[in-house]
Amino acid sequence: MALKAGGMVPELRAMRLMEIAARVENEYGGDLRTGLVGPLAKVRQALKRFPNIADAGADRILLFAGIAPVPAIPSNCPHVLVRIRRGQERENYSVTYREAQQAVEAEVPKSIDARSRAYLLLKRHGQTLCKRRNPKCNDCPLASCCAFATGKHRGRFTPE
Ligand code: SF4
Repeated sequence: MALKAGGMVPELRAMRLMEIAARVENEYGGDLRTGLVGPLAKVRQALKRFPNIADAGADRILLFAGIAPVPAIPSNCPHVLVRIRRGQERENYSVTYREAQQAVEAEVPKSIDARSRAYLLLKRHGQTLCKRRNPKCNDCPLASCCAFATGKHRGRFTPE
């Protein structure tokens, strides 16, 4: 009942939650946090064994659970930073995601606070202005310094 408000196929999401709960109980004695210690690669692998958690989801958990100041990028907006810096994003999602991570790694202080804030700003910007299919460049305060909007780099299409 409680899952019906959260979107499609609540039965499937309920099954996933039960699977996750069972795994936390069986593999971590009911305390997932104690299992998420040790080398970052090992923790990331542990997270990715849960259903529907890929690299972006693992990064998000690592950052917002305060485990490590990884350069997490909102999974539906990796294009934002890449457009600003390079112009058109890559065809390949993984490459775009990695390039966005590299930008955060290079330019945002390596702290949980700073990178959480960067994540939330990117998410907000991607949802409101720098939309995947229809970026609102004419309304965007970053347009004058954005490679995509100024057409300095390859692949620019005409924004509305
Ligand atoms: S100017 Fe356009 S492409 Fe650049 S950040 Fe703003 S909305 Fe995105």
